[in-house]
Amino acid sequence: MRIDLLTLFPDMCETVMAESIVGRARKKGCLQVCCHQIRDFAFDKHQRVDDCPFGGGKGMLLMTEPISLCIDDLTAHLGKKPHMIYMSPQGRVLDQQRVKELAQMENIAILCGHYEGVDERILDTYVDEQISLGDFVLTGGELPALALADAVSRMIDGVLAEDVCFEEESHYNGLLEYPQYTRPAVWRGQAVPEVLLSGNHGNIAKWRRAQSLWRTLKNRPDMLEKAEFQKGDGELLYQIRREMEKE
Ligand code: SAM
Repeated sequence: MRIDLLTLFPDMCETVMAESIVGRARKKGCLQVCCHQIRDFAFDKHQRVDDCPFGGGKGMLLMTEPISLCIDDLTAHLGKKPHMIYMSPQGRVLDQQRVKELAQMENIAILCGHYEGVDERILDTYVDEQISLGDFVLTGGELPALALADAVSRMIDGVLAEDVCFEEESHYNGLLEYPQYTRPAVWRGQAVPEVLLSGNHGNIAKWRRAQSLWRTLKNRPDMLEKAEFQKGDGELLYQIRREMEKE
């Protein structure tokens, strides 16, 4: 898969995408990430990319032409228009299901806004979908674009050691993950739950499932409406609800 980031801050994006798991995956050739400087497509001598909004108001808007030239250049290079995403607080809030779907695509390109955002005609002409990181406003689209690119990258074959690395994690099957511990077994008087030291894999799996259900019910009960349940979950949930009532 190839991910293209269109931004005024390509160095910032490149730095993040060169590190750790994603950086190693790029080196191994599991995925390609390319960061493009929108300013390179500015046509005046000051390389200006923004202007005041018509109708007045505070702040600046990214102009149409540099962004459109940047997208056209990318399209010509790829030989087809990539699936174009604009990071925006007005978009659909990102979730793991959409991340999984995007990871199936051959190419995605992510446009990062800045200042007040971008001229609406860019969205009308090029953008296939708008994605938000949540109901809050950041100064630019780079952090949300990097979050999206990272989340999509780890779903691609070969990026993580095994599929099980993400399949048991929060949100993959609609539940939050169980609590995890590492050495030492006792830290400042707090012992790891005994079952995890028992070596009994059946009991460990059952404990983890119960913890997942417990956490989801406690922290994100809304998620249970869409969760993928397993045999035995009904009984576990019944017991958890009774325990919670006692607390
Ligand atoms: N004027 C815009 C509005 O009210 O909808 C907000 C612009 S924001 C200050 C600048 C840029 O940051 C946006 O163009 C977008 O690319 C990015 N951005 C800010 N918050 C975001 C969020 N929650 N999710 C995704 N992108 C966001």
